[in-house]
Amino acid sequence: MKNIIVLFIFLSLLQSCMKGESADLVIHNAQIYTMDDFNTVHNAIAIKDGKILEVGPERQIINKYSAEETIDAGSKSIYPGFIDAHGHILSYARQKLSINLVGCKSYDEMLVRIEMYQSRHNRKFIIGRGWNQNLWKKSDGMPTNDRLNELFPDIPVCLFRIDGHALLANDYLIKNSNVVEKFNTNPELHEGGYLILDSLQNTTGVFIDNAMNPILDILPDFPLNELKDAILEVQEELFGYGITGVHEAGLQFEEVEILDELMEEGKLPLNIYGMLLPTDDNIAFARENGIYQKDNLTIRSFKVYGDGALGSRGAFLKHNYADMHDHKGYLTTSLNRMKEIATICEEVNYQMNTHAIGDSTNRIMLDIYQEIYDVKPDHRWRIEHAQIVDPKDFKLFADAGVFPSVQPTHATSDQSWAESRLGKAGMAGAYAYRSLLNQFGMIAIGTDFPVEATDPFLTIHAAVNRQNAEGIPGGGFQMEESISIEQCLRGMTIWAAFAAFQENELGTIEKGKDATIIILESPLNATEQFKNNFAFMTFIKGKKVYSVE
Ligand SMILES: [Zn+2]
Repeated sequence: MKNIIVLFIFLSLLQSCMKGESADLVIHNAQIYTMDDFNTVHNAIAIKDGKILEVGPERQIINKYSAEETIDAGSKSIYPGFIDAHGHILSYARQKLSINLVGCKSYDEMLVRIEMYQSRHNRKFIIGRGWNQNLWKKSDGMPTNDRLNELFPDIPVCLFRIDGHALLANDYLIKNSNVVEKFNTNPELHEGGYLILDSLQNTTGVFIDNAMNPILDILPDFPLNELKDAILEVQEELFGYGITGVHEAGLQFEEVEILDELMEEGKLPLNIYGMLLPTDDNIAFARENGIYQKDNLTIRSFKVYGDGALGSRGAFLKHNYADMHDHKGYLTTSLNRMKEIATICEEVNYQMNTHAIGDSTNRIMLDIYQEIYDVKPDHRWRIEHAQIVDPKDFKLFADAGVFPSVQPTHATSDQSWAESRLGKAGMAGAYAYRSLLNQFGMIAIGTDFPVEATDPFLTIHAAVNRQNAEGIPGGGFQMEESISIEQCLRGMTIWAAFAAFQENELGTIEKGKDATIIILESPLNATEQFKNNFAFMTFIKGKKVYSVE
């Protein structure tokens, strides 16, 4: 007995001596899902200088560290900060400044929103974003601009569809941008896009993919201060969902400068992994800067648009569309140009991330990537969306080391009409996230905001339960392609970090990595808790950037 008492005193002394290793922050009384190789669950974490010092059992951490700040997590769950592997911060910021047409249930509602906005802002150029004719009760296909012309005869109006692959312009804008003439005389525009004509061969105002370019060329931007504020608004929304990093899928170098400025001002702690669009100026930027790393912004990839979207029949398919005679869609970047960009990416050591929706585009990219893979095995080149893949081609993802980057909410958003575009047989390799995961061994997961909502819990719900926010369909859409909660979380953490060459700093809760972590309001271990969840607290490099309190 005496010995035991002596031992106890000795251990207590030892403990109090050991305590005193200093930390900036200790969070305890938590369920910490580390997402390491074994998915170890711990209870406490110590943080110093923005890095994780140690994660371990409650008493081990509490006894060892004296911290400047201690947070009792009240048994809540902690995960690595979510990385949205495919989102559009700048587009979303501009959407916030434009007329919000998301969720309009009719053309009339769209007009009302435009008039209300214009009466308040009195813009010289009216820009709206987010319409989706599939949501309109009396929809018989794409809208026409007749009523827009009546209301706005002498001011340009440009309204983007939710997917950004189509726009509706009024006649005033069509005349002033010379878009029809430019379209007719520029093969690049009509090989990678089209405009919808009425029965008299007049334009209806709808321009799709590359046909939009002459209008995009003259579209004015919002004032810089408004744009910056809107970016910060987007950041705040992301933090509230536990998103601590975004792979920005399509940037101009001027926009890199805007992000840089905000970071220098100390206002933008969000991790941003940028994909440049392959314009001449942006390629010059890449050649000059190489891999660009400043604060929490990294630029080391190009985003290439391989084809259009399925909804507007711009996705390039191997077979004709089931609901459009003699039409397979198209490449929006020519095959030769795609190969040129691949060579440039190899030269500047950038990653190539290509938007590929149709099965034909996916196959073309897999073949191009294969050539690079043969000389550079760990290139991690990505296909964004990988939405429709010929089942015969799945194995090429493994063969060519191609990283699938997918957005599960697309499956549940498209479920009601995808088969009408693809036919029954075409659905076999569509939205096939489990099949893709089985090939490559990892998938990067994103939301594709603002095409879809920023809410990552809807993404988890779509990936695991294969249901939309309303719980449709009851039994799940193509359940054979669902993935597990753990797989989905890895896709939003460590695998997304891998897809950006950031696995040594981000993606798991392990000693030495960035203390970029989130405390969630509800745990993610029961299906009914996926939705209506949010971040209770969000930390980037050990600094609290968001809290509900
Ligand atoms: Zn996108």
